[in-house]
Amino acid sequence: MISVLDLKEQYADIKSEIDEAISEVVKSGSFILGRFVERFEEGAAVYLGSKYAMGVASGTDALHLALLACGVKADDEVITVPFTFFATAEVISNIGAKPVFVDIDPRTFNINPDKIEKAITSKTKAVIPVHLYGQSAHMDKIIEIAKKHNLKVIEDCAQSFGAEYKGRKTGAFGDCGCFSFFPTKNLGAYGDGGMIVTDSDPLAENIKLLRAHGSKDKYHHKILGFNSRLDAIQANILRVKLNYIDKWNKKRAEIAQKYNELIKNSDIITPYQDKDCKHVYHQYTARCRNKRDSLKKHLEEKGISTTIYYPISLHLQEVYSGLGYNEGDFPESEKAQREVLSLPVYPELSDDNIKYIAGAITEFGLRQV
Ligand SMILES: *Cc1c(COP(=O)(O)O)cnc(C)c1O
Repeated sequence: MISVLDLKEQYADIKSEIDEAISEVVKSGSFILGRFVERFEEGAAVYLGSKYAMGVASGTDALHLALLACGVKADDEVITVPFTFFATAEVISNIGAKPVFVDIDPRTFNINPDKIEKAITSKTKAVIPVHLYGQSAHMDKIIEIAKKHNLKVIEDCAQSFGAEYKGRKTGAFGDCGCFSFFPTKNLGAYGDGGMIVTDSDPLAENIKLLRAHGSKDKYHHKILGFNSRLDAIQANILRVKLNYIDKWNKKRAEIAQKYNELIKNSDIITPYQDKDCKHVYHQYTARCRNKRDSLKKHLEEKGISTTIYYPISLHLQEVYSGLGYNEGDFPESEKAQREVLSLPVYPELSDDNIKYIAGAITEFGLRQV
């Protein structure tokens, strides 16, 4: 079976460095925040082109703390997309604020900037663009609208570590950029982890308080905070992996080009590459029109796993039935949920397997005619 992702192969390639990084922390006896976390934060800030990078417990927490630091409160409204992982909206709701959805651009699967202004009300405080599948949202337009309406911008970069928009890394455009190091992300830890980047001194100070019980000096609590810290073992693993991220992202993009070439004569639609963006192919997500589920089944029979990110748009989730949205409200998001299929993509995927997968897709197309 070809899986959508194989983390064991990556570990085998860098085993000695990873084992050394883990043992270095264990020997030091310092496990939470501290110098290993600082060392990774410094490296990540330089890489991402932001003044501050702050490790937190997960990508979800990164979004949550960023919203709080930006001053989002109960009854405020935050604009985001219905076509994303649930956490993007969940954090808004957990503050008592209201997620207000805006439909996606069908080509990029990211927020359609032309639809943002219609969703703004006097209660709107922030917008969360998601750089889905590893390709940046249209940040110029989003920042322009946010400035005009005095909104905070919090980028959901959980899938876009290393991705660029007009030559700058995602995370560097908004007030805050939020990353996830969940093991399956393109920069993944061996457990949960996340990070917030910002250029703002007051936001950085606030986030550092929020992640550590509102305290800067031990046992002096300035504000209510959380226990949301990156641990030293994860940080030291991530420090090693950060040295490889460009190479791995490049491999992903090469695999994407191979798929594009090999399946161009099949009847599935290959991912759109925005000329302003460096896409890191966290996912290689194709559109299959009305045959998605039978193609998925066909590939499974051939020993190829695929995934559907995401099968249910957030406005149609049971938990959000109270928001007042209906089927048909976000046609592009709903169309995407019926059509998308993510193929295996990870740096170690072999050429033979790429060809085999592409062959199985093309063969399916032929069977249909
Ligand atoms: C993974 C992910 C998150 C949440 O990150 P965790 O580290 O799993 O909490 C948020 N948003 C998007 C788009 C994601 O893919």
